[in-house]
Amino acid sequence: MTAEVHSFQAEVQQLMNLMVHSLYSNKEIFLRELISNSSDAVDKLRFEEITNHNLLKSDKENSITLSIDKENSILNIEDNGIGMSKEELMNNLGTIASSGTKKFLEKLSEQDKKDSNLIGQFGVGFYSAFMVAKQIIVESRSAHGGSAYKWTSSGDGSYTIEESSKETRGTRIEIHLKDEEKEFADDWKIRSIVRKYSDYVTYPVYLLETKEDKQEETRLNKSTPVWARNKRENKPEDYKELYKQISMDWREPLLWEHISVEGLVPFNAVIYVPSEAPFDLYTRDNHGLHLYVKRVSITEKCKELLPEYLRFVAGVVETDEIPLNVSREILQQNNKLPQIKKQIIKKTLSSLQHLANNEQEKYLNFYKVFGAVLKEGFHFDHEQHETLSELVRFKSSKTGKEGWVSFKEYIERKAEAQREIYYLTGPSYEALERSPHLEALTSRGIEVLFLTDAIDEWFLMSYAKHGEYNLKSINKGDLDLTGIGKESEEDKKNEEAPAEELVGLLDLFRTKLSDDIKEVKISKRLRESACCLVADENGMSAHMERIMKASGQ
Ligand code: ADP
Ligand code: MG
Repeated sequence: MTAEVHSFQAEVQQLMNLMVHSLYSNKEIFLRELISNSSDAVDKLRFEEITNHNLLKSDKENSITLSIDKENSILNIEDNGIGMSKEELMNNLGTIASSGTKKFLEKLSEQDKKDSNLIGQFGVGFYSAFMVAKQIIVESRSAHGGSAYKWTSSGDGSYTIEESSKETRGTRIEIHLKDEEKEFADDWKIRSIVRKYSDYVTYPVYLLETKEDKQEETRLNKSTPVWARNKRENKPEDYKELYKQISMDWREPLLWEHISVEGLVPFNAVIYVPSEAPFDLYTRDNHGLHLYVKRVSITEKCKELLPEYLRFVAGVVETDEIPLNVSREILQQNNKLPQIKKQIIKKTLSSLQHLANNEQEKYLNFYKVFGAVLKEGFHFDHEQHETLSELVRFKSSKTGKEGWVSFKEYIERKAEAQREIYYLTGPSYEALERSPHLEALTSRGIEVLFLTDAIDEWFLMSYAKHGEYNLKSINKGDLDLTGIGKESEEDKKNEEAPAEELVGLLDLFRTKLSDDIKEVKISKRLRESACCLVADENGMSAHMERIMKASGQ
């Protein structure tokens, strides 16, 4: 077969130009990208191997091997992973179909396209190698059989493809370095880049060197992945690097927890709470943890390991307790995963508690971003009510717009005779602050929680009582404040029976407004305002009615 010439999809060229201009100071990440592709390819092979015994065998352990031809300024990266057929070479290395690159482009259109900082953090993929290469040759043989193919390009709009004589399974990539990028043909440079970005790669990364006419392989990365090592062996950098790898988030995580459980269902895990919300926090349904079984990656988003209300958590779980040949679909029925999930929930919440107790400011920053999501847990996870109730924070009539109060603090500073926790729901802090319902309570010095999140109505339905204290809406049903807080003369006067003329007035309201209201009562809850609307004790709050209306119910 003679070489066929093909053009890149227009976006590919666009992407390459973009990278050349934005990543010039951070070119070395191309190696991270190629190694991560090789590691993915070995992952895929190992996963398929479990059920398909007809894959091409390799006589080498699963690994990634780098080698340098210093004289000709060539860097080689070779793996014995799943490999690519001719069609796969053309689809994968000629178009932008890959998830990572797509996400990168999407994100880029929202942000400033020249934000080089941002670009370097994403999985920029295979094409990033053209930042340092004047030519790239990819030879690959699919583990599914068929002949091997050779893909060649100078990154100038087209590539050629032809048959190759490669006999072994997997992919070999030759990077012919540009004259000004010769430093990447230096073994110390390569060692340091691998250690910096790819130390956590699951498979051995070797450097093949010729010493005194003998070929010698040196392993460059650590032998065990971060989560399987002893905690004491890991440096904070190890955890941060793993986080970047699994989360697509370039910011440092807020906290992480390394979990090693030896009980009934032993597993290792590292879980992370991010410092900022991902842009799709409220809409995404792709939450989950990366699940490994015996070093084989089973799925990157295992939903069975994480409840929705912790969907901001990222992490890796490895257990040898599930059969390797479990299909991704069958995971749902597995009875070990719920036990692991329980532990993950417990550990996540306890590390948040730890943060709340020890680094208040950091915790409140977390809460600002993720509090509303966390509160969903009251509805979905009754078992965790107690812990969640220690983690929730509220705005109130005493905190001001920027402050927060916990249940514990509320109870510590409540009025002596107070037996209920008062709250008000509404669309915003400003709206609640002006509510006439507040008057009687603030004048007595009683604190009222302001609940303004959409989820709060569900929170209240699931959590009506905190310890011995009922949560009591101040705009529903009767509100008897007798004996609570600082009572003024006016409060005492209000206790007296209503005058004759008021009884008459009430009757007049009742007959005139009978279509719109259920009852008219003399109120003890007002100071400045003449009247206010109150919902039935068991009825929907006005805020809830608005939410239901907005959602078309
Ligand atoms: P991503 O890794 O995010 O999918 P890349 O641009 O890095 O995007 O790679 C594009 C695709 O090319 C990969 O999804 C994979 O299918 C294929 N590929 C790249 N390198 C290899 C390799 N070493 N072995 C097998 N397939 C590969
Ligand atoms: Mg990639």
